[in-house]
Amino acid sequence: MYSVRFHTHGGPEVLRYEQAPDPRPSPGEALVRVRACALNHLDLWERQGLRRVPIPMPHISGSDVAGEVVESAVADLPPGRRVMLQPGISCGRCAACLSGKDNECPDYQVLGYRDHAGGYAELVKVPVQNLVPIPDHVGFVEAAAFPLTFLTAWHMLMTCARLEARDDVLVLAAGSGVGQAAVQLAVWRGARVFATAGSAAKMARARELGATAVIHHHEQDVAAEVLRLTNRRGVDVVIEHVGEATWAKSVRSLARGGRLVTCGATTGAAGTLDLQALFSKRLTIRGSYMGTKGELLAVAPLFFDGALKPAIDRTYPLAQAAAAQRRLEASGQFGKIVLEV
Ligand SMILES: [Zn+2]
Repeated sequence: MYSVRFHTHGGPEVLRYEQAPDPRPSPGEALVRVRACALNHLDLWERQGLRRVPIPMPHISGSDVAGEVVESAVADLPPGRRVMLQPGISCGRCAACLSGKDNECPDYQVLGYRDHAGGYAELVKVPVQNLVPIPDHVGFVEAAAFPLTFLTAWHMLMTCARLEARDDVLVLAAGSGVGQAAVQLAVWRGARVFATAGSAAKMARARELGATAVIHHHEQDVAAEVLRLTNRRGVDVVIEHVGEATWAKSVRSLARGGRLVTCGATTGAAGTLDLQALFSKRLTIRGSYMGTKGELLAVAPLFFDGALKPAIDRTYPLAQAAAAQRRLEASGQFGKIVLEV
């Protein structure tokens, strides 16, 4: 099969469009013909090299995949069935998996990360429980753009923050994959949404997704704006993933009893915390990583019915994966960048 692999860590130039052996599914696994694969920041970090996580070489990235079943032992998912893939891979047999908390499985892995070859290829193999059928009216590009970010945003908002319709929410970087998903889900839930973005064009897109007000995070003081917009009250929920550059202001934006949920630290991992604010305002700070298979199945019908629409920035042919990653690295995008295979 054709694939995009890297044999050494480095910049986008280490990505090679080349032949690789076809994956061979084991019992319990399905083989899928990839039609589209969306990019995530994870793809960049593992290509650059991570201090604590060895990546076996050569490696095929890609956690967000849509395509067609080639081979599966499951009768209702025959060859040709259109699917998107659950990005979380777990053992399916441990107490966490059998309690529906498969993202807490000791063997939990993300498709396209570490040992698992991902969707920057014509073929990919996954456990059959990772196949999610998609209706005919849903395109492969949109389907590939959906799973990881909407699953992450759903888990952060609904499970970790227990979002309610009366809540005010601040979503950092609405143009990012998680940001655009979180804005849409919070609006769908009935909450009032404030968002941040780094350009006038991205601010306009965030308003189109339903944000009540959008703050320019390079030109305005985010916490001061949030306090002004909420009559000094602050917001009930902050969706963080930017990290060091925004952390202190995100904490300052919280109302009494506020919940901050973070799933990333794109700008750096160091952040300070005002402990007096933490206890006196009864704040909750919570980390979040991916979500469960059940949660993706819970949110998917909203996508299939058209209530949620993954924002697509641009598509590239698989062979131009390096150009696609350069665009993500430059943060110029609004929404998902998707490879067509
Ligand atoms: Zn397990």
